[in-house]
Amino acid sequence: MTNSSSYISSSYIGRFAPSPSGPLHFGSLVAALASYLDARANNGKWLVRMEDIDPPREQAGASDLILKALEVYGLHWDEDVLYQSNRSEAYDQAIEKLQKKDLVYCCTCTRKELRGTNGVYPGNCRGQHQTEKAHSLRVHCPGSAISFNDLIQGTTSSSLNDLGDFIIKRKDGLYAYQLAVCVDDAFQGITHVIRGSDLLFATPWQLSLQTMMEVRSPVYGHFPVITLDDGGKLSKQNHAPAISLDNPVPALIQALNALGQKPEKQLAEGSINDVIEWGVKNWRLNAIASRMEVPLTSL
Ligand code: GLU
Ligand code: ZN
Repeated sequence: MTNSSSYISSSYIGRFAPSPSGPLHFGSLVAALASYLDARANNGKWLVRMEDIDPPREQAGASDLILKALEVYGLHWDEDVLYQSNRSEAYDQAIEKLQKKDLVYCCTCTRKELRGTNGVYPGNCRGQHQTEKAHSLRVHCPGSAISFNDLIQGTTSSSLNDLGDFIIKRKDGLYAYQLAVCVDDAFQGITHVIRGSDLLFATPWQLSLQTMMEVRSPVYGHFPVITLDDGGKLSKQNHAPAISLDNPVPALIQALNALGQKPEKQLAEGSINDVIEWGVKNWRLNAIASRMEVPLTSL
């Protein structure tokens, strides 16, 4: 697929967009399953996009392990997998377009200089269009409140003043997640994003970037992430174990429970396809708790 081609628009296109920083773990299985079931229950397409734009955080072979796990779990995707590592040209084009609109500036602040700003960029470098110094690229975010209706969490609002200008290209030359995710959601014609609540904070940034890029915004639904006893998120960072490829049914059932779907008891005796089919047929988005977290021990 070339960068200039675009997906045909369809009434529902969903996606699962893992970062290959490790094999699929239970938290990411829930993300894959939620996006898959919501897409299939709406007769939609379900795409897989490998967000492999951060090599320092990636693990060799993880992309293939994730895809293999999805197949074993009966989560079959449409179209070819899109690898973000092949999309530099599209990201550069998007940056150029934003630069032409005078929305981008060079940020030369060091980490030390930004200490104490609580992650909200104070705008020091606004207006700096050129520099010889090492710099990241930031977008100038209009300081207005953004409110959106999350399919799971309900009305969510935040002020962009609280978020600050954000990075679209890092000092080390890598493209930022916010940029890549917006460019590719638009490119793939994604209409629905069902993902974990750990990304709820990023949504106002993405909505504002989509407006700046003049692309259509998908609708969003953020399900509660699975947490460990200590309240930590189940993630690759805290070494969540890879899910077993030998015995998918119990993990699928547990994932359905995490999504509030109350799977029938006899599914435990069924095949992977039985569980997936039940999940599609009985899918209720509004059965998902409108909470930010679900403890693993409650499942
Ligand atoms: N690649 C991101 C992650 O694994 C998810 C991106 C998204 O769903 O928007 O955390
Ligand atoms: Zn700066």
